[in-house]
Amino acid sequence: MGQHYDVLVIGGGHNGLVNAAYLARAGKKVLVLERRAVLGGSAVTEEIIPGFLFSECSYVVSLLRPEIIRELDLPRHGLEILPLDGTFTPMLNGDHLWRVNDHAKTQREIRRHSRLDAEAYDEFSKMMVPMCRFVKPILSMIPPDPTSLNPRDLRKLYFLSRRLQQLSSDERYTLIQLMTMSAADFLDQWFETDALKATMSASGIIGTFLGIRSPGTAYVLLHHYMGEIDGAFRSWGFSRGGTGAISNAIASAAREAGAEIRTQAPVAKILVKNGRATGVALESGEELSATIVSSSADPHLTFEKFLDPKELPSDFLEDVRRYKFRGSSGKVNLALDALPDFKTIPGPGAHLRGAISLSPSMDYMERAYDDAKYGRFSRRPYVDMVIPSLTDPSVAPAGKHVLSCFVQYAPYKLAPGEGTWDDQREKFGDTVIDTIAEHAPNIKSIIRGRQVLTPLDLEREFGLTQGNIFQGELSLEQLFFLRPAPGWAYYRTPIDSLYMCGSATHPGGGIMGAPGRIASQVILKEWKKAS
Ligand SMILES: Cc1cc2nc3c(=O)[nH]c(=O)nc-3n(C[C@H](O)[C@H](O)[C@H](O)COP(=O)(O)OP(=O)(O)OC[C@H]3O[C@@H](n4cnc5c(N)ncnc54)[C@H](O)[C@@H]3O)c2cc1C
Repeated sequence: MGQHYDVLVIGGGHNGLVNAAYLARAGKKVLVLERRAVLGGSAVTEEIIPGFLFSECSYVVSLLRPEIIRELDLPRHGLEILPLDGTFTPMLNGDHLWRVNDHAKTQREIRRHSRLDAEAYDEFSKMMVPMCRFVKPILSMIPPDPTSLNPRDLRKLYFLSRRLQQLSSDERYTLIQLMTMSAADFLDQWFETDALKATMSASGIIGTFLGIRSPGTAYVLLHHYMGEIDGAFRSWGFSRGGTGAISNAIASAAREAGAEIRTQAPVAKILVKNGRATGVALESGEELSATIVSSSADPHLTFEKFLDPKELPSDFLEDVRRYKFRGSSGKVNLALDALPDFKTIPGPGAHLRGAISLSPSMDYMERAYDDAKYGRFSRRPYVDMVIPSLTDPSVAPAGKHVLSCFVQYAPYKLAPGEGTWDDQREKFGDTVIDTIAEHAPNIKSIIRGRQVLTPLDLEREFGLTQGNIFQGELSLEQLFFLRPAPGWAYYRTPIDSLYMCGSATHPGGGIMGAPGRIASQVILKEWKKAS
């Protein structure tokens, strides 16, 4: 057995790094073990095509908890968030919808499409603020279990019910709608413009195997609405240098606090003795011992790969097996010689600096899901594009650009007769480019190189089981006190001294850091109790 550590953290994604940083700051001897050669997991920047830096997976940031930025002093470690202004939706009739961060401008733009919607947009934006404020504290706490009589849960439930009472009765009703409805039904109550509803509902399906008309997607919409930058709700931004720069800033804070970080150190097994984790064995055969093991890998890897299932209670194992991954997204990263030229607003302009959403209508979005339901990738997918090089020129050579395309749907399991992802990869990439070309016909002539990531690639390369971008769907039955399994939302596991600290724990996926931070608090509390 090699050296002994207080804590071994499995996985150098941003949550594993946050976990390590807080534990090291508390004086623990910590080692992070990352399988890949680069840190960051799904928040990573890599030079896939010479001269072009891609945020290979996650591409925009908003959910990163402000307390983490402050406590770890991330700006001093290089974090810089640049604003992403607006969402531009080209429509199939040649028109467009372009919402920007300036509320009055957006209202004028929406009024072009519908006077009623312009008024409703104002009301809607006001209504979402108390919704976000209600949910926000839950993002930083161990979620209470409403089925439990434990005083700790009861105290938190009391706190939340007091906060609920502070909402008006309309707001309480809206909150319940958000927790139960589909994004489409929820938005139908507010708006009539098809492209507006389609684009807004898109954030309800990100990372889920659900359509905009599936119940539960209104909550996912709220989850993405909750982002804030510098105290402003709903703002999204780019991290200078790509999303890998966020992970690097956290890694720098962790190292400064004394944590060690090893890359190309894949964990093969978690070592267990008498029901207690005692360390890990690496794929190289090296064994490391520790008082605590904290895994930021997902439940499938942690419990079914790193552990012998015999070590686990059968009902827990059953829950782990039932946990839904069902990856539904892919990514196409393009290196461009010039900017895409949209038919509806020709030439360069501010509309290219924000998100460009190919979500022209509600039926378009639902049809994209219809394909996935039957095991095909969407023939006309929803594509969310950004051109970070316009805001952060450091990611591409002068005059060139990076176009990042998040694509849904790309079901992990293709139906019989649909081939395998290995033989469909390029066809999927072509479909995405053909879809973009319907709106920006010059796209094909300006592509210098491309990277196509299918759900299978996300699994193989980034360790995301079934390619789920959030280490498991953000569906209501596996959120809050149910994530990752009923009774186990406390970052603990049935194995003593083994904890979880990644996106498969509350509050879930996105570059948030919250799972890593809350898990560190749980670990430190239990350490104190034990000593
Ligand atoms: C395509 C895509 C687009 C996304 N877009 C956005 C976005 O724009 N904005 C946003 O906020 N979120 C986005 N997300 C989600 C977000 O990136 C993730 O939820 C988040 O980064 C997960 O962080 P994590 O640390 O919990 O897990 P991960 O990043 O999954 O980290 C887990 C780490 O464990 C490592 N690991 C796995 N197996 C082993 C092993 N055997 N030994 C050692 N290490 C191991 C992995 O290599 C990985 O580094 C996106 C994700 C994807 C995939």
